[in-house]
Amino acid sequence: MRLDTPMAPQTNPHNALPATPMRTITVAEGDGIGPEITRATLAVLKAAGAAVDVQPITVGEAIYKSGHSTGIAPEAWDSLRATQVFLKGPITTPQGGGYKSLNVTIRKTLGLYANVRPCVSFAPFVPTMHPKMDVVIVRENEEDLYAGIEHRQTDQVMQCLKLITRPGCERIVRYAFEYARAHGRRKVTCMTKDNIMKMTDGLFHQVFDEIRAHYPDIATDHMIIDIGTARLATRPEQFDVIVTPNLYGDIISDVAAELTGSVGLAGSANIGEHVAMFEAIHGSAPDIAGKDIANPSGMLLSAVMMLVHIGQPKVAETIHNAWLATIEDGFHTADLARSLDGTAKTGPTVGTQAFAQAVIERLGKKPQTFKPVSYAATDGTKVSAAAAPAMAAQAASKKVAKKEMVGVDVFVHQSSMTADALAAQLQALTVPGLKLQMITNRGVKVWPGGFPETFTTDHWRCRFMVEGGDTATLAHRQIVALLGNVTEGGVDVIKTENLCTFDGERGFALGQGQ
Ligand code: NAD
Repeated sequence: MRLDTPMAPQTNPHNALPATPMRTITVAEGDGIGPEITRATLAVLKAAGAAVDVQPITVGEAIYKSGHSTGIAPEAWDSLRATQVFLKGPITTPQGGGYKSLNVTIRKTLGLYANVRPCVSFAPFVPTMHPKMDVVIVRENEEDLYAGIEHRQTDQVMQCLKLITRPGCERIVRYAFEYARAHGRRKVTCMTKDNIMKMTDGLFHQVFDEIRAHYPDIATDHMIIDIGTARLATRPEQFDVIVTPNLYGDIISDVAAELTGSVGLAGSANIGEHVAMFEAIHGSAPDIAGKDIANPSGMLLSAVMMLVHIGQPKVAETIHNAWLATIEDGFHTADLARSLDGTAKTGPTVGTQAFAQAVIERLGKKPQTFKPVSYAATDGTKVSAAAAPAMAAQAASKKVAKKEMVGVDVFVHQSSMTADALAAQLQALTVPGLKLQMITNRGVKVWPGGFPETFTTDHWRCRFMVEGGDTATLAHRQIVALLGNVTEGGVDVIKTENLCTFDGERGFALGQGQ
């Protein structure tokens, strides 16, 4: 089937449903195995009577090679903004050069803040050590270290800024709870590392605690990400919905998908307030491209999520149940037809298009061993819509805090002096009203009272605090004067961070050992 062929059926031939309005969707087949799995997916959608009209765009390798370092041509954005629904094949990201990941670009440009990754076991038909696993990972999709703000600061030190915002936390946590409610899920677990990152991850955890109070019907807990990941890998059946910041979510969703049997099985949704993107979680698999052996399930199950999202739950249910019946009937692509240790084949295999044909032949059938899915009560269109106004109300309820500057951290590049010598130099260069309070290296206090055992690099954080008691505040001109003195004194200043209180509460972390 050509991608530019509009899919005509207005009624579902398997359920004799009334006509559903046609919905235009943007489709990119992607790179590597992308064209094969897209063809297979669209064939199933067409046969099932999905009321979708395909608008094809090209993204990825061909666009990178034509000179667009973003991997997407300007006109493709018009299609995405017009249709607001994107079914995307996997993209090969060129390594090195100035190329940014197209996925990250699309997610952030279109505000796709929630990455939803269901990871379900299909035992006994797909070998897995965790036959009862059924976890949905709701990953924050725009912030955290993925803001991509990185700098080289000294000869020895690189920096990546971790940005966590209150509105960002509010909408992802709210989304996770709304998702749980809409999909009949009972528990939401939050995972952070707020024992270490008390301000950034601490904010995520705090917002989780605030929002969970509004969902008394849903059980909740919080786990530190390290033990949470360990438990997910060993006892995944204990989890239902997991909500977590970007980096942790990226890692644990691959762990979870692999635990179910194959990375080729999992689909995902990237949800924003206006646009949503649906894609398999795997990549373009260049090692098996063009061989008709790729598993199209990840993309097909992404398309099922898309159909729920655009208000076609019945056809989504028909496809999902036919897919379950196909897996039960032993139609497996090569990645599934192996034993747990990955060595021996467990049965005959089918190719990508034959697998899709087997799904098509089972449209209208229900699985016998697996519990049939039902999306009848699920209104995916309402999940993000419900989360958005609630989130706005939540944010609006936060008044603007009284912000007062009480100090400044001056970051310095130097490798010729000890901490004591640097402190002496800075004390001689400071301005009236500002006092050097401490120096840290990689976050550890090295002055005053540093340990000779502490390893140091060429990157020093020098904290100046305002003098004059608890009520004294600092003016920007004092910082400018300090920087003038210090730089004229020969110190290489990298950057500064203002130290503020918000309604009297400290808005900066102490030094380790302070
Ligand atoms: P990959 O997911 O493409 O492949 C990893 C392994 O899994 C390979 O052995 C592959 O053959 C297998 N595999 C993946 N999907 C499969 C499927 N549907 N059926 C059967 N086997 C499957 O990861 P990679 O090799 O690390 O990355 C390849 C390219 O994909 C890179 O350029 C990477 O940047 C890109 N990538 C894109 C996306 C995306 O577009 N969303 C996601 C991840 C990686």
